[in-house]
Amino acid sequence: MARHGLLIDYEYCTGCHTCEVACKQEHNYPVGKWGIKVNEIVLETFDKITIDYIPFPTDLCNLCVQRTKEGIPPACVKHCQAGCMMYGPVKELVKTMEKKPKTVLFAPR
Ligand code: SF4
Ligand code: SF4
Repeated sequence: MARHGLLIDYEYCTGCHTCEVACKQEHNYPVGKWGIKVNEIVLETFDKITIDYIPFPTDLCNLCVQRTKEGIPPACVKHCQAGCMMYGPVKELVKTMEKKPKTVLFAPR
């Protein structure tokens, strides 16, 4: 099977943490363990402050192998209200990345 991954278009991420909660509920992770974590990056220049939210999967992320085997999207992708997460073959995700300014690609082996 082609290598698959998760693409996060963080230009549109609102930092809502829904992906974290959806993942935790799907996998029943205990307190303190996460399959994905939203990072807040604050950049201050002399005249403005920019805040980016960058969700990043942890080593516990298995790309929701059970769901995707059944043809269901990963829990984080399904519940992201901004629609800024995609799951699919890495080759396809890279094509999307090339058109976007702010993305993270997670593609574990
Ligand atoms: S793909 Fe599944 S395991 Fe990975 S972060 Fe998303 S919900 Fe969690
Ligand atoms: S659910 Fe979507 S919008 Fe919310 S923090 Fe996660 S990636 Fe960002």
